[in-house]
Amino acid sequence: MKLLEHEGKEIFRRYGIPVPPTGGVIAKPAQLTAALKRAGKGPWVIKAQVLAGGRGKAGGVKIAKTPKEAAEIVKKMLGMRLITPQTGEKGIKVDTVLVDKASDITREIYISVVLDRKLGCPVVIASAEGGVEIEELAKHKPHAILREAVDPSSGLKAFQARRLAFALRIPAEKLGDFTKLATGIVNVFLGLDASLVEVNPLIITPKNEVIALDAKVITDDNALFRQKDTAAREDHEATPLEKEAKKVGISYIGLDGTIGCMVNGAGLAMATMDSVNLAGGSPANFLDVGGGANVEQVTRAFQIILKDKKVKAVLVNIFGGIMRCDVIAEGVLGALKKVKMGVPLVVRLEGTNVKEGKMLLERSGVKMTVADSLWDAAKKAVAAAGRN
Ligand code: ADP
Ligand code: MG
Repeated sequence: MKLLEHEGKEIFRRYGIPVPPTGGVIAKPAQLTAALKRAGKGPWVIKAQVLAGGRGKAGGVKIAKTPKEAAEIVKKMLGMRLITPQTGEKGIKVDTVLVDKASDITREIYISVVLDRKLGCPVVIASAEGGVEIEELAKHKPHAILREAVDPSSGLKAFQARRLAFALRIPAEKLGDFTKLATGIVNVFLGLDASLVEVNPLIITPKNEVIALDAKVITDDNALFRQKDTAAREDHEATPLEKEAKKVGISYIGLDGTIGCMVNGAGLAMATMDSVNLAGGSPANFLDVGGGANVEQVTRAFQIILKDKKVKAVLVNIFGGIMRCDVIAEGVLGALKKVKMGVPLVVRLEGTNVKEGKMLLERSGVKMTVADSLWDAAKKAVAAAGRN
């Protein structure tokens, strides 16, 4: 899950990483005056809280010298669609902005922690040439990038932090501060089960302070079982339907097509989407009902699929491995008593007791097409969606 800048900075504060004084996040222009007061004396910086980098160049980071300037910026920024190289051409709507005290900048540095899959451990990546995109730097000046592998059981060692500090030309009297900060960033990475913690830029001020001006944190969903704080956070990337599905334990990702797919197992879901594409259609979603394809779960899945008004046909493709196909068929039929379909339904079952399952469906009198194979089902669903 990706965290917004202000969420990242809040975590940084907890780990003792210096960030600029802040007035917090606001969603309405009326909240600005109080936010400016909390941040302290101006100038201030107003920052669009969207999950994309490159905001600076796209107009999502603006300095305000006076409260009047700040009000004008906030009025324009809230509600605008920010388009950066990372958002795609539709951009992302700005719902909230962060109001920070602006810092004087002498130098911008890059520092991050990522998982190095080859080494099998976290690695600190840093460069004295901050403020620019690290990908660009990696292409044109790979020698300007420092790497320091971290032992996850002990965190960043002091000698490693010093080695980074010298290479980054950190002012000598701030060596202690930098060590604390670099260690802190690594501790955020380890403590949150993150897959990325990035500070770009980390700045040196004219008073030689070292401050994290930006924060990008991505956490690993696989660790949510032991990350209660992260699990309780709102996923800002998810659509309302995706959030609803998550609450009931269904993996759902909305897509642009017209065929709603209900499948058990992520692999089978991928294969189903491929087959729909190959048959000339396009899936409206990725949906994995999970192992227990029972009445409740199938009902919820149908309800979520049908809330998407783009859906012109529904394809159910369920494999009865641990679950028997006759039990699944009963689940589907039970669910159909509770939801109003309104669009053609194609069902393909395979696995244990498939004959019994299909017979149940065919004899139920409920209007649906029972398909014989995945390919047959995909073709029938695409044809039905086309007619509808
Ligand atoms: P992004 O990475 O999305 O472009 P940043 O937070 O890195 O957004 O901001 C872009 C640039 O804006 C920074 O490189 C820095 O020069 C400037 N900036 C950001 N925050 C502040 C601040 N608090 N004070 C002064 N300048 C800032
Ligand atoms: Mg940045």
